[in-house]
Amino acid sequence: MCSKPSGSPACADLSFPSENASAVLYAPAFSAVYVEEAAAGLPRTRQILQKLPKATVIPCKSYREIFNRPHQEPTRQKHAPALILAVGQPPFLYDGAPVCQDFGNRHFYYTSGVMNCIFDCEYCYLQGMYNSGHITVFVNLEDTFAALENILREHEAYVCISYDTDLLALEPLLSMVSAWMDFAKDRPGLTLELRTKSAAEGVLRKLPVQENVILALTLSPEPVITAYEHRTPTLAARLHMANTALSLGWPVRLCFDPMLAVHDAASVYNAMFDEVIRTVPMAKIRDASVGVFRISREYLRRMRRCRTSAVTCYPYELQNGVYAYPPDIANRLLSLARERLGAVLPEDRLFFWESESAQEVTP
Ligand code: SF4
Repeated sequence: MCSKPSGSPACADLSFPSENASAVLYAPAFSAVYVEEAAAGLPRTRQILQKLPKATVIPCKSYREIFNRPHQEPTRQKHAPALILAVGQPPFLYDGAPVCQDFGNRHFYYTSGVMNCIFDCEYCYLQGMYNSGHITVFVNLEDTFAALENILREHEAYVCISYDTDLLALEPLLSMVSAWMDFAKDRPGLTLELRTKSAAEGVLRKLPVQENVILALTLSPEPVITAYEHRTPTLAARLHMANTALSLGWPVRLCFDPMLAVHDAASVYNAMFDEVIRTVPMAKIRDASVGVFRISREYLRRMRRCRTSAVTCYPYELQNGVYAYPPDIANRLLSLARERLGAVLPEDRLFFWESESAQEVTP
């Protein structure tokens, strides 16, 4: 989706970068659009297809025929993903997983209206979840709103809307962030988290600012972005995005998650925190979240099959079905973040994801 090389400052159009010479062999992203029978003719399907006038549209009975097909090569498909438009089935909202930060919210949900992402992070758990590098969009977002409306009649809700994707990066094509924000306005019992690595400020400026919609920007050191977060904006671009969002009045969360045990991690992460603290007025930040890389056993097994990478091949320790760094390594990373962020943010605005075994070892 990003038109500029890996680590480019913004990502606002729908063509992929030429990362290497072989990339020219790939068709542009979304040059093929599969449309599930049930999704054909629905308003959101029509709107999306109107934005892709050159795409080859291929009807299919079910998105599963394409997305769940065995023996795909997700890493290669990510160079030129197809788009799959489908109708999602209940449940439209899921309880937050134990490996996820709940920010102290009692009723924490996520929704998976889009499956897969235009970015290509080597540590991304989606590689362990899906057989495919293509992107499936469930166009019946209104059914999710109806399900959420029922929940909101009972109690408040905190919903992560950009969970198995990067919804803001896809906004020029899908307009789903604006639909969510429209639903959230005048519903004070609802809080949305929009997590992103996008630095598309033009897209952000077109959205309204709402107290109950948190822009959660994931930040990583530049060497980590270059090595592992392919096609994502640079750290400088993400920090610029954070400042723009703050100046527009967005509640902004900074996410340092996942921290990776890279070579010389202390100086790599210290350099990042120096840049963040120098660039962003931290007093204006709503909160920050920190976590080290962790992944379920099954997902890591599948990720190792489709991608050989320093992240996937690291000798993690298995802790209660979750692969994670040995506690001393995890604690070193977390302590560094706690020290740097604790100096600029009060304790109640800092959220740390720590496994039980990581907490057992005092740094
Ligand atoms: S931006 Fe997030 S969802 Fe997208 S590939 Fe990277 S880790 Fe996965």
